[in-house]
Amino acid sequence: MYCSQMIWFDTHAHIQDEDFREDFPEVLSRAASAGVTRVVMAASNEEDSRAACRLAVHHPMLYAAVGVHPHDAKTWGAGTAARLSDLVQTANRDALHAGRDRCVVACGEIGLDFHYDFSPREAQRDVFRKQLELAHALDLPVIIHMREATELSLSILREAHADGLFAREHPAGVIHCYSGSAETVPALLALGFMIGFDGPITFRKARKPIEALRVVPADRLVLETDAPYLTPHPHRGKRNEPSYIPLIGEKAAEILGESAEIIAARTTANALRLFRIGLSRELQNGNALNESKTV
Ligand SMILES: [Zn+2]
Repeated sequence: MYCSQMIWFDTHAHIQDEDFREDFPEVLSRAASAGVTRVVMAASNEEDSRAACRLAVHHPMLYAAVGVHPHDAKTWGAGTAARLSDLVQTANRDALHAGRDRCVVACGEIGLDFHYDFSPREAQRDVFRKQLELAHALDLPVIIHMREATELSLSILREAHADGLFAREHPAGVIHCYSGSAETVPALLALGFMIGFDGPITFRKARKPIEALRVVPADRLVLETDAPYLTPHPHRGKRNEPSYIPLIGEKAAEILGESAEIIAARTTANALRLFRIGLSRELQNGNALNESKTV
């Protein structure tokens, strides 16, 4: 169904979750068949960060993020930052031994969630700042989760920016599953963030994310599934997975009046820049695809 030369990148999925244990190899092969060449697994807590790293070490198309989600902020302890740092170093070393590039590419997902308030707001705020410092120490971009906490998230990010916690020569990170208003987008762009869009842009009643999508510059847009959540149309109600990224990309293309090819190429290039992944192998893969087509 999809042109084999279209290359997609799912910048946010939780395929290290229990939900994917039964058919993990099939999930990866369906993603590959759909043209998804890279998936970044976002982590929710320490154990989840370890699970993501374990998978990423052995699967060249997978990358891991490490971090503690605002829901789990209450699990943060005195040794958490040191253990996450060790995990990053060990996983990257193991990845090199396994013959691949470094596999931990971000710190996340981190931020504030005042919709569910699963952790006390004070703890969320404290753990968010601590992880912005951790990401700086590890020289990693951040994956930001912000839900019903735009004002405070923005002020924490502005403070981090003023304190020099974001790399100047690279994107600061990504605002994951952007659900804020179009008016807030410029402030996030000014801090160096890319903006991630997911299944909700395909929903029939979507309005806010579509308005926001329209104001994101071409070089700041990335696509994510957030699998197993937020399944795009027409699979709503079923488990989400990375092979559905083209559905989100095609919808984004329609909204922006572009071709799916352009959106695939653009969002993949943005994701590679965001996570500082070298382009050389991507080009080799592209050539291999071209060659296999002509044989
Ligand atoms: Zn997520």
